[in-house]
Amino acid sequence: MNVRTSLRGAGEPREVRESFETRCCVVGAGPAGVVLALVLARNGVAVLLLEAHEDFDRDFRGDTLHPSALEIMDELGLADRLLQLRHTKIHTANIMTGAGLLTVADFRRLKTKFPFIAMMPQVDFLNFLVAEASRHPDFQLRLGARVEELIEEGGRVRGVRYRDGDGAWHEVRAKLTVGADGRGSRVRHLSGLEAGIMKTSPPMDVLWFRVPRKADDPSGVVARFGRGHAVVLLDRLGEWQCGYIILKGTYQQVRADGLEALRKSFAEIAPEFADRAEHLKDWRQISMLSVESSRLRVWHRPGLLLVGDAAHVMSPFGGVGINYAIQDAVAAANALADPLRRGAEITGAQLQAVQRRRELPTRIIQSLQAFAQRIGIANAMRARQTFNVPLPLRLLLRTPVLRRLPARLIAFGFRPSRLRRELRGENYSTRSSW
Ligand SMILES: Cc1cc2nc3c(=O)[nH]c(=O)nc-3n(C[C@H](O)[C@H](O)[C@H](O)COP(=O)(O)OP(=O)(O)OC[C@H]3O[C@@H](n4cnc5c(N)ncnc54)[C@H](O)[C@@H]3O)c2cc1C
Repeated sequence: MNVRTSLRGAGEPREVRESFETRCCVVGAGPAGVVLALVLARNGVAVLLLEAHEDFDRDFRGDTLHPSALEIMDELGLADRLLQLRHTKIHTANIMTGAGLLTVADFRRLKTKFPFIAMMPQVDFLNFLVAEASRHPDFQLRLGARVEELIEEGGRVRGVRYRDGDGAWHEVRAKLTVGADGRGSRVRHLSGLEAGIMKTSPPMDVLWFRVPRKADDPSGVVARFGRGHAVVLLDRLGEWQCGYIILKGTYQQVRADGLEALRKSFAEIAPEFADRAEHLKDWRQISMLSVESSRLRVWHRPGLLLVGDAAHVMSPFGGVGINYAIQDAVAAANALADPLRRGAEITGAQLQAVQRRRELPTRIIQSLQAFAQRIGIANAMRARQTFNVPLPLRLLLRTPVLRRLPARLIAFGFRPSRLRRELRGENYSTRSSW
């Protein structure tokens, strides 16, 4: 539909190149937005997915697919084909301590069809899901569509206005708008929900970069602590994705100290990878992630729901952000697919049900992350010495009933969401669980 209208929004009247109507408008094609749009479209809900970028190829966004995310893919009948795409499997998470390598999480012991974390470039994962969604006539995607305004009528959100790559305005009207536009969510800001944000201050920031991996390197995740910093290395398709952890607010100092100091520090913390440090030649190879942890008090307004990082920014500790974003999408689809398909007005109670389903798991994992960061990383980094495992973690890993807990929490989070049976794929047969 190509209708030209005049808008009287925040400023001057302006021309709208296109006006579009749909049942659900999802803003942001990250893991949360793409999974939600896919499940809705498969189940007969007309959905328009808007993405500000022209593609999905963005560096250092996280490439981890945890067992619970893979189980959801399995429920959709997509896991086997997804795992045919190039990926590596992480079976254990290890910390190098003064006393040698300590396995803190062994995913092989979990009762699941997918006892590993799949490291797959996020661009491949999202392209796969979008290709799958595109097979359904109810799915539409607009790339290069940056949402800048909400349409509000009588206190209810009725859709959005976005600008395309040429700067032209478009209007989308929808029964439900979902903000899945990530940690800097524009929709959250426009909705006023941001006022109720609760932030904690993780004591760290992360520098991300990649170095080559050799055939005889260890596999999986390797973490090393000491001498004022920490390094986490993730085995990613022939290379190591490295997170060099610094104390919050010290990035300018690290830059001022220079690249040579960074290379030296990396080589000291992870001596078995010392020869890889020379591959760091330019600051442009390095991305700084300001680590945040926050969540909204309220995730919805009439006609509007926020999911994923837009509702709760996750610290990268444990790499659970993608997992939680996908589970939010599943909870939203479970609650809202039926009323949306019927064309019913979505009620506040239905939106609140989504928040209720996902809020407690989010609070619990954020509290655990905060605890682990405070006690573990910050202390180990400040100590400027070889890392020794804190006593509570040592006791946990020695207690037979409890030692699987870290692997379970990383793999599934707390109270993982499952797709309702009616929303699953035809080929889905098994259900594993922790
Ligand atoms: C450097 C880094 C490393 C990370 N590593 C990991 C990891 O290893 N494992 C893990 O689980 N998590 C990791 N995370 C966290 C993880 O990326 C997020 O938790 C997860 O991507 C959240 O998914 P989402 O769909 O909610 O949002 P996002 O993935 O952020 O997607 C939001 C989408 O919305 C789009 N968008 C934004 N504004 C607009 C707008 N106005 N209009 C239209 N579209 C818009 C964006 O372009 C983006 O595509 C990492 C994060 C960072 C920054």
